[in-house]
Amino acid sequence: YNGVAAEQFKVATPPEIKFTKLLIDGRFVDSVSGKTFDTLDPRTGKAITTVAEGDKEDINLAVKAARQAFDHGKWPRMPGSERGRIMLKFADLIDENVEELAKLDSLDAGRLLTSGMYIDIPNCVGMLRYNAGFADKIHGETLKMSREFHAYTLKEPVGVVGIIIPWNVPTTMFCSKVSPALAAGCTMVVKPAEQTPLSALFIAQLAKMAGIPDGVLNVVTGFGPTAGAALCSHMDVDKISFTGSTEVGREVMIAAANSNLKAVSLELGGKSPFIVFDDADVDKAVDLAHMAIFYNKGEICVAGSRVFVQEGIYDEFVRKSAEKAKSWIVGDPFDPLVCQGPQVDKNQFEKILRYIDYGKEDGATLLTGGKACGEKGYYIEPTIFTDVKEDMRIAKDEIFGPVMSLMKFKTVEEAIEKANNTRYGLAAGIVTKDIDVANRVSRSVRAGVVWINCYFAFDNDAPFGGVKMSGFGKDGGLQGLEKYLKTKTVVTPIYNSPW
Ligand code: ADP
Repeated sequence: YNGVAAEQFKVATPPEIKFTKLLIDGRFVDSVSGKTFDTLDPRTGKAITTVAEGDKEDINLAVKAARQAFDHGKWPRMPGSERGRIMLKFADLIDENVEELAKLDSLDAGRLLTSGMYIDIPNCVGMLRYNAGFADKIHGETLKMSREFHAYTLKEPVGVVGIIIPWNVPTTMFCSKVSPALAAGCTMVVKPAEQTPLSALFIAQLAKMAGIPDGVLNVVTGFGPTAGAALCSHMDVDKISFTGSTEVGREVMIAAANSNLKAVSLELGGKSPFIVFDDADVDKAVDLAHMAIFYNKGEICVAGSRVFVQEGIYDEFVRKSAEKAKSWIVGDPFDPLVCQGPQVDKNQFEKILRYIDYGKEDGATLLTGGKACGEKGYYIEPTIFTDVKEDMRIAKDEIFGPVMSLMKFKTVEEAIEKANNTRYGLAAGIVTKDIDVANRVSRSVRAGVVWINCYFAFDNDAPFGGVKMSGFGKDGGLQGLEKYLKTKTVVTPIYNSPW
């Protein structure tokens, strides 16, 4: 490198931690119990800092603030254009703090700093701006009723929303739910994942600075079975918007059903198929398959974890995938040359290694990787299994780690059948130059999103969310906004109508 380039390729320094308390009704406060918990650095397993541990009582206070802000505050009542203006200011503040936010997610979640700075946080700014544009364009319909009545529908904010998010892409998850909820005029309580509370508290401060009124956006850090569960069963919460595992999604629905039947939307796990046909450019397909599973160390709900390759190119695909895995650098997420950082925590690390053992026990062939690496922290080699059979545990369960299962197929029908042989239905990838094959497979695969000759092609305009046990309810696009609205029908009689 020359001098300038060398500067760009330096390993960045971690951020200073400024916010560690709960944000309730516009104030940063300790938890009622005074308890705190450690949030850990996945590079070392050591504590970064301690954060307030919210529990049921803190959730009660936060919901009370959100309820008050919804029932009597100005946020749902102000002109949509004004909400939009404040949201745009919020977006600008995030834009001014891209580096700091990206660093918080790298430190807390092990995400690559480069991804955070150039993809995640700019996308978050985009989500807020996109949804700010909806804030003054929310309207219902006029209905000509069949008798002498006239009706119109009102789109009203759903009320107090409980937002429960996971740890894999913390800032993105926060913004993907908070942005449409704000545009709709809802008030909310966000419960970030216990592994990654830092960026949520930092952004909450920016929301306050932008002028979002007190009580509209509350953040309670804490654990799932305590704070998260209290939010789901709270009688004053009108809706839960959840992203996380299928197992916890079920708990969320049960808690909602057992309390006030609040609305629920769930974005859950996946075991997404990535299908490569014989006519594909093998080098490009290998690159795409690699990214589809190893990006963010496989800790992505849409990860293309089941790779189906047609028999004509299978051997070449296997050989080239093994070569590419060797050049995939695992290391410090603050280092811009690194491709894959550490898994988020010890639980996740051990679970992935356990699944690698299952793969071996069940008779798959370990092509590359298969072990932890580094002297400390939660690093795992990019791992590829071949000769995987559909009934093996590595082919059925969501591992949420850098483990690719390679399987061979002969015909288009077989590819479709194998792709659909899963309880999940989040995403699917197809690589082919044949438009007929692409059309046929994309219509036949049961998934919420199908990417043809690309992967991870998200956009604010494109609804995202799963089918089957991957959940229901979309984030993104107009459908992402509609989740936070309810429809009221208003009917009046029309006398002496000429029509
Ligand atoms: P993962 O398997 O990716 O860790 P989880 O589904 O366990 O995902 O967690 C996602 C979010 O759900 C986190 O914020 C976590 O604290 C929360 N959570 C976990 N258990 C519960 C629960 N019983 N009720 C509500 N939220 C929960």
